[in-house]
Order: sequence, then structure tokens, then C-alpha cells
Amino acid sequence: MSYVIEGKTGNWEIVVGLEVHAQIISQSKLFSGASTKFGGEPNTQVSLVDAAFPGMLPVINRECVAQAVRTGLGLNARINLESRFDRKNYFYADLPQGYQISQFAHPIVGEGTIEIELPGGETRQIGITRLHMEQDAGKLLHDQDPTRSFVDLNRAGVALMEIVSEPDIRAPEEAGAYLRKLRQILRYLGTCDGNMEEGSMRADVNVSVRQAGEPFRTRCEIKNVNSIRFVMQAIEVEAARQVEIWENGGEVDQETRLFDPGRGETRTMRSKEDAHDYRYFPDPDLLPLVIEQAWVDGLKAALPELPDAKRARFQKDYGIPFYDAGVLVAEQSVADFFETVAKGRDGKLAVTWVTGDLFAALNRTGRTIENSPVSAEALGKMLDLISDGTINGKIAKDVFEDMVETGESPDAIVEKKGLKQVTDTGVIDAAVDAIMAKHADKVEEFRSGKDKLFGFFVGQVMKETKGKANPALVNEALKAKLNG
Ligand code: ADP
Ligand code: MG
Repeated sequence: MSYVIEGKTGNWEIVVGLEVHAQIISQSKLFSGASTKFGGEPNTQVSLVDAAFPGMLPVINRECVAQAVRTGLGLNARINLESRFDRKNYFYADLPQGYQISQFAHPIVGEGTIEIELPGGETRQIGITRLHMEQDAGKLLHDQDPTRSFVDLNRAGVALMEIVSEPDIRAPEEAGAYLRKLRQILRYLGTCDGNMEEGSMRADVNVSVRQAGEPFRTRCEIKNVNSIRFVMQAIEVEAARQVEIWENGGEVDQETRLFDPGRGETRTMRSKEDAHDYRYFPDPDLLPLVIEQAWVDGLKAALPELPDAKRARFQKDYGIPFYDAGVLVAEQSVADFFETVAKGRDGKLAVTWVTGDLFAALNRTGRTIENSPVSAEALGKMLDLISDGTINGKIAKDVFEDMVETGESPDAIVEKKGLKQVTDTGVIDAAVDAIMAKHADKVEEFRSGKDKLFGFFVGQVMKETKGKANPALVNEALKAKLNG
């Protein structure tokens, strides 16, 4: 994909690397037994470790480690059997320890890749540099009281994964595709819910610009962007800002910036001069984390089928195109729904109904696939009624709408409304005769060469039979009688 900024001195390319913080799904925190549940009353999920009482010792949560390893495996990445925890020292009111425990020099996961898909079906590999575990901080509440701020430590100590990409991204759309794919993989793995509105996934966006053939130039980091749309917008405006600076003979300073979606601009948060010196050192309370290859292998064997593999299988097993398969696997719940519908049936017919009529119905009724008014089993049964000739494709649309409205089974609706397809050739012949008698003039025209009228007759006969006639038999009967 080529995304070019046309400046007055020539064309510029953007260079982007993303650092994503993803909250690990686990019952309890990274180093304590306190609950990680979202939305609890402030300070009800805080252990003495999280509140940093003197002398408290962290104990690592095995499930959090397993989640990080699963994620690394899902990113086709190297798993480091030995990793370490460091203290990242800084003072802030939401961090009672005075340091964050993080994996600085020795992360648990090394290099990997994510395949992203771009409009038009083009794919690209984006490199993953590393994934490490760290603690989240608490939260300051400034809006509860006019003169005071409060601290909520429920989030303090919750496990995060920081997933760092290589500076391989070259367009805002690629950043969007990367984040969507990463979120999809995390959700399939069940290692992070990927919910950016609740803050369980957030991105720091590193942006620089360069002209053709140049080495990388200085980058700026835009902190804590909390939606995919904002990430794409932030890249666009930040890149334009940098081009303008370079072209006016200026110099881009390496700094941390904030994106203001309201104004559509980024602004300085802190410059490199006041960059923190975190005084990293190995946490003396924690031994190096050593895991065994056999344990990793066990986790790998138990991984669910991931989106890329599922997509390839759908293409092969159900004979459906790359694009449709991608739509189906975008969410696991949709993929599962589709498989229930398609198994043992016509895959192409199933994909048309799921991504066409069903999606439209969900949109219209404001529902999601999880609470779909039509179950996968019911839709499957309806497809059976089409394939065994009980109803034709046109009547199926009406049956489906009825299913959406009433939640009744397709058989019951067909029975109740008497929608069974008419295959009795006697009935169809009679309808054809009636229509030909009624439109004798048109029959004349047809016979004197106006072939196009054939469609008119088909329509009339279908109408006469209330849409229930088998279309193939209608065609046959009309051909015989009109030409006879
Ligand atoms: P730091 O440790 O200071 O955060 P890293 O080298 O780890 O720096 O890079 C952080 C992020 O910045 C990575 O996602 C990386 O891909 C990205 N990055 C590095 N150099 C550039 C650049 N010149 N332009 C854009 N992004 C960059
Ligand atoms: Mg960084």
C-alpha cells in the first residue's frame, strides 16, 4: 500500500511503530491474589502487595505467564525460557510502590510477525519486536470533588502485556489493519478482551517521516491513543506536522506528544530533555522467571484455531472466497455461527445468508450475533428447506423475515403460512394456461420474436402461484407452451 505525503520539496513516506498495552485476562493480578474485575467499587480489589505495604513480597501469577506465552505463540514469536523483572522507578500518586515492575532487558517473548490485510486483499507482514509483562498502575479520579483528587488502586498491579512492533508500518490504514488483527488474535486466544473504550487495550504511536531512500528520521511518540480511528487520525496529522517542520528547514524533536481528537492535532507532553531516567534494575524480590519447553509445548498444543488458519480452512472446506472467509473469521462468534450453519450444507449458500440477510437483520434490529433473533440451527434448517425443494429461494426471504420477527422455526412458518413450493405440474400448467389466456396479445408478440417477454410470463405465473411455484418447472412449462 502506498501512502504518500506530497510536500513542496518532494514526496514523503511515513514510518510508524506501535507499542500496544494489552490487559491480560486473568482472575487475579500479576503479583497478588486481588481480583482484576472491571468496574468494582474503588479500592475494593487491593491487596497489601498492590498497596505496597512495607515488607510485602510479590508472587508471580502462573496464569498471567501462561497468557503471555499463549500470546507470543499466537504472534509466531520466539518464547524466551528465561526472562526477568526489573523495577522502573518513578513517583506518581497512582503508584504506591514508587516503581513499576516490568520486563526491561529480558522480555518473555522475542521477535514475531503479524500478517495484515489491506483493502484489495493485499497482505503484508509486520514485525513484532517483543512482548513483555508489566504491572498496570492505579487510577486518579479528579472529577469526584471540587478541591481534591482521589486514588483508586483496583487497577494497580493488574497484568499488562506490552507488544512492540517494528517500524514496519507505512500508512494510517496499515496501522488500523495491524491493530484490528492484533485485537482479533488476542480475542481468539482469550488473553485480552481488546476493549479499547474500557482501556484494556491502548496504543502508543511512534511516527516519523522520510523521503525516498533515506534512513529513518527522528520520531515522536503519541501516548495512550484509545481507539483505532484516533490512531489513524493521529498518524495523519502528526506526519503532516513533521513534513511541514522539515520542509521549513526545522528539526523534529524527539518528544512525547498527546493527540487531541477534538482539535485534530497533537501537542507536546514532554520533550526528550525532561525524559525520565527510570533507574532500571533487576527486582531483588523476584527470581528470574524460568519456564520449561515442555510447558510451552503443552500451551501451544492447546491453542485454539487462530484467524489466519481458520480463514484458510473455510476457503478450502466450504469453497468460499478469501474475502468472504475474512469477514466470517473477523469475530470468533461469527465464525462459529457460520460453521454451525454450513456444516454438511452448501457453503456458498450459507455464506450468502450469514453475511447478507442475517447481518442485515442484525443491523436493523440492533442485535449482535450472540443474541441473534435467528439461531444458527434454525438458519441451517431453513437452508435444508431450500435444498430439499420445500421452498424456493424467493419464499425463503419471507420465511427468514418471519423467523427474525417471531423467532419461530422455519418448518412451523412454512406450515402455518402454507408456503410449500408448488411442484405439482398440473397446478403449474393450469397457472401457465390462465396467464397465456389473459395475455393473448403478449403471447402473439412473443411468438413473433419478442423473446424478452419470457421474463414477463415467468413473473406473472409466479404471481399467480403466490411466489410458491418451483421456478425451474415454471420455466419448463412456459417454454413448452409458448413455443408449442
Ligand atoms: P524506546 O525503547 O525508546 O521506546 P524503541 O526502539 O523500543 O524505543 O522503539 C519504540 C517504538 O518506536 C517501536 O514500536 C519502534 O518500531 C518505533 N520506532 C523506532 N524508530 C522509529 C522511527 N524512526 N520512526 C517511527 N517509529 C520508530
Ligand atoms: Mg518504549
